[in-house]
Order: sequence, then C-alpha cells, then structure tokens
Amino acid sequence: MQASTIVEFVRDTYRTNDFIPLHAPAFDGNEKQYVMETLESTFVSSVGKFVDDFECQIEKFTGANKAVATVNGTAALHTALYLAGVKAGDLVITQALTFVATCNALYHMGAQPIFVDISPASLGLCPKAVDAYLSENAELKEGGCFHKQTKQQIKAVVPMHTFGHPVELDELIDVCHKWNLTLVEDAAESLGSFYKGKHTGTFSDYSALSFNGNKIITTGGGGMVLCKNEDLGRHAKHVTTTAKIPHPYEFYHDEPGFNYRMPNLNAALGCAQMESLHRYLEEKRYLAEKYRQLFVGSDINFVLEPEYAQSNYWLNAVICPDVKSRDEILEKTNAAGVMTRPIWKLMHRLPMFRQALRGSLEFSEFIEGRVINLPSSPIKKEE
Ligand SMILES: *Cc1c(COP(=O)(O)O)cnc(C)c1O
Repeated sequence: MQASTIVEFVRDTYRTNDFIPLHAPAFDGNEKQYVMETLESTFVSSVGKFVDDFECQIEKFTGANKAVATVNGTAALHTALYLAGVKAGDLVITQALTFVATCNALYHMGAQPIFVDISPASLGLCPKAVDAYLSENAELKEGGCFHKQTKQQIKAVVPMHTFGHPVELDELIDVCHKWNLTLVEDAAESLGSFYKGKHTGTFSDYSALSFNGNKIITTGGGGMVLCKNEDLGRHAKHVTTTAKIPHPYEFYHDEPGFNYRMPNLNAALGCAQMESLHRYLEEKRYLAEKYRQLFVGSDINFVLEPEYAQSNYWLNAVICPDVKSRDEILEKTNAAGVMTRPIWKLMHRLPMFRQALRGSLEFSEFIEGRVINLPSSPIKKEE
C-alpha cells in the first residue's frame, strides 16, 4: 500500500489538515473543575480526597482488590517487583520487545533481565518460549528456580501487554507454577484490556499501570499498583508512602519505604479522565475497525486483538512486508504531518542490556523491523 493512501485516510478520519500526533490526551470533561478544586482547597500534594477516589474508580473498573496510586508507571513497576520479592542479583524473565521502563525498573533494583521471544498471537511474552528457555537453562532446586550457568535465582516473569493486547496469561501462569516463578504484569499500556473477560493486571499479586501523557488516560504523570488482595494492598500503600506508622505527630517508619505517592493534583485529573474512559475505549475500537478495513487485501497486516481477549487498542499497529517498505511509509507519513513511529529497539541492543542473557529472539527481530504505529487518539464516531 502507498503511504499517500494512509495519509489521506488518517486526514479524513481526524478531519484536519494540521499535524496529527500519535496519541494526544483530551480534557473535555470535568478535568478543569476537579483540578481547580484541589487548588482552592490547597490540598494539592500528599493529602486530599482525589487520590482515594481515583484508586476506588480504578478498583471498580479493573476488579482489582486494591489499587495504589503512584507518581508514575515506572515507580509502580518498581514497587510491584520489590513487593514480589525481586532482589539484587536476581534474574527476571521479560520480553526484549518492550518500552525501556520495564527493564529500567529491574536494573535499579540490581536485578538483571533475561530476554525471551514474543508470541505472534499477542506481540507479548511467549509462554512456549519461556518454558523452552527454562527447560534448557534452568533447574528447580530447594528454594526456587536457578540459572544453570550463572547460578543466579530466576525470581519472576514480567510480561508486557504490548499496545494493549493481552498476552496468553493462562499458559504463562502454568509456566510460572511449573518453574516456581512469580508473575508481575507490566500492564502500563493495557488499562481497558481484558483477558477472557478479566482485566489485565489482575492475574498477578502485583502489577503496574501507567497514566503518562500518551496513555489511554493521563494524570500528567502517574501510575498504579494493582494488588491481588487487601493485605497486599495495605502493604503496597505503606511502602509507597515512606512506611510511616500513622500517628498525630510522631515520626516512626518500620521498613525502607519509597516516596512514590501520587499527588492529589494529579489524581484530580485522573478522576475526571476515568469518567471518559468508557467512551475512549468505544472510540478506539471504532478507529481500530476503520484501520482494519483500510488494510484488508493489502500487503500490510493490521494487528488485531488476540481471539481470547478484548484489547483497548491503545496504539494501532501494522506489520509491513519488509524493512524497506516500513521505512518508506515512516518517511512519507511523517513528512506529510501524520505522525507514525517504528516499534522500540529491542532491549538487548541498548548499551546497558547488551550483556543480558537471552533466548532466541527470532520473532522479536522480525517484528522490530516491520511494525509501524499509526495515529490512535480517540475520535468521535460519525453520526
Ligand atoms: C508507559 C510505560 C511504562 C511506564 O511509564 P511511565 O512513563 O513511568 O508512567 C512502563 N512500561 C511500558 C511498557 C510502558 O509503555
């Protein structure tokens, strides 16, 4: 397909001749009102009602037992990994095809990633590839799963729901049980995505959401730790808020804590955004369907949600026949003011992860050279 066909389609869809970004936030609800309320109350920081309200709304929407708001998604992921028991010197299995935040969170805990291939069904971590890597390189001993070569403990498996498409969770959970590993979902991109009817991020004891400016809803910067039960949730709240024992005036902290609490000012934005989430999801499904139809019968493959899942279609993606045609489309669409983007460079190509352990990354490499993300801001449906 010609780049000009894509440009024309996107311009038609967004009905504008201006620059079209990849994903722009919209503040067309109660955002201003709620943010003004925090200013007028002076409770802009660590105290105020919006943080609790926002956490409640996320719990209701996702079905998570407890949600704990944080300053950003990376902080949420750091907290989730920390609470899941990942320690310095541990190994953690994840995908090479992800945004760097997944690996940064690990790195700063002193843990190291093992990169394993992704699945064609989801573009996320492949359960079969994880099992194959472990069968070849790991052994189960008393106390857990250990890497045969480095003798380090392999502690956790961190799948990422790429562009909002849920990974094959049942199969991954089976592999985690078999190898005595803890699952921690990086659900930063998948608010509004469901695996067999259950919200992503609710399959592990702890998981992370992000509300960065480019995500499906935003709090400016922000994240959330989803927790499997109330006790885990209480603990997550405790460590993200300096682990202080409540007291009218005394300072006592009973374990090393983080200062990762989301400010009330940001939570106000989140509460207003949550009121629009259902509409955004509908509009994004509508847009994805339009893209799907555009590419029917062409040499470009539109990435559809897996058959077992309902995706939020956070970022629409296509797979080009080869690197050359991808580069040509990237070049021409961007020159025409329609923003498109290649997928992230695989993590093992970055200097800090070049030495990381890895299995075959054949499909990750195939995808790396062929994917393009298309403009994905929600659009109003036509009457
Ligand atoms: C957005 C994102 C995060 C978290 O990002 P923050 O900017 O820290 O909120 C983590 N992992 C992935 C895959 C992401 O896309």
